Amino acid sequence: MAVLLSTKAHTMQDWKAALLAVDPSLEIRLFPDAGEPAEIEAAVVWTAHDMMELRRYPNLRLIVSMGAGVDHLFRPPGPPPGVPVARLVDTRLTQGMTEWVLLNVLRFHRQDPEYRAQQAEKVWYELPAPETSARHVGILGLGELGSDAARALRALGFPVLGWSRRPKAMDGVETFHGAEGLMAMAAKADILVCLLPLTPDTRGVLDARLIGAMKPGSYVINAARGGHMVATDVLAALDSGHLAGAALDVFEPEPLPAESPFWAHPKVILTPHAASITIPSSAAPQVVENIHRARDGRPLVNLVDFSAGY
Ligand code: NDP
Repeated sequence: MAVLLSTKAHTMQDWKAALLAVDPSLEIRLFPDAGEPAEIEAAVVWTAHDMMELRRYPNLRLIVSMGAGVDHLFRPPGPPPGVPVARLVDTRLTQGMTEWVLLNVLRFHRQDPEYRAQQAEKVWYELPAPETSARHVGILGLGELGSDAARALRALGFPVLGWSRRPKAMDGVETFHGAEGLMAMAAKADILVCLLPLTPDTRGVLDARLIGAMKPGSYVINAARGGHMVATDVLAALDSGHLAGAALDVFEPEPLPAESPFWAHPKVILTPHAASITIPSSAAPQVVENIHRARDGRPLVNLVDFSAGY
């Protein structure tokens, strides 16, 4: 039996080497050279892989997303019926995201855009000192990534708010859930950080209504998916001054087209879906573990809940 690997061409060999380093007996096939379809028992795939294509493999018993997000697997027609889907929960992926969130929260909190503008004009002027304990950071999504970012922000002294689908208690974090919880949290937050999975329920959450509920002069940070953001609403809020800035890592579509106004917007900090990048050597052990578990009929780890869509 064999494992089908399908990702960006430049990372394919790294993934193959990482999986073989954990289990040298694995037979790895690099898409599109899948060989005999009946021999494929697991597919380890990233966003470009067509879910229709996976229906070619009659003995497929596991699909693994090469990242934390699985929205790409649920695009129509979705994964082949009856095949379980697992995602990555990886300490280095989480650490990378927390670093990116801290970088951008601190950038806005410590008036970095203002100081850069002053530097460009050779202006020597001290802005009023920011007060950490008065800067509320609201995190949309208190999962693996959101809860780690929440802990790190808490440790720096920020009051942290968090929003999840189900009620959740977290030490030192004021938690909210549901539609009313979202608006209540937005009204308190000076900086909103989106770390939600993209599902039908969360698509477009960063819209005029949510941003309008925030205080004038607040900030939005999105490292989840481009589909969470209504781009025209975010741009309008930046242009009106209601939002003082946005740090954005994800867009729809990606790569961000050259004509997008986000590229040159003076209030936008932009990275190319690089907030946290999967490191194959770090992620491989859990992928191999799941391949072994699927083979032996044991319960899988980091399984995706189909009914919730994440
Ligand atoms: P998790 O599944 O661990 O956490 C998801 C969180 O979102 C949970 O707290 C969940 O609530 C909450 N949530 C889901 N749906 C809703 C809803 N309708 N209303 C309110 N809250 C909701 O995901 P991760 O933290 O591992 O990852 C989050 C996302 O980050 C990924 O899906 C991916 O899109 C993105 N990502 C981006 C990267 C980048 O480089 N830009 C890198 C890695 C991931 P509950 O606790 O109740 O389940």
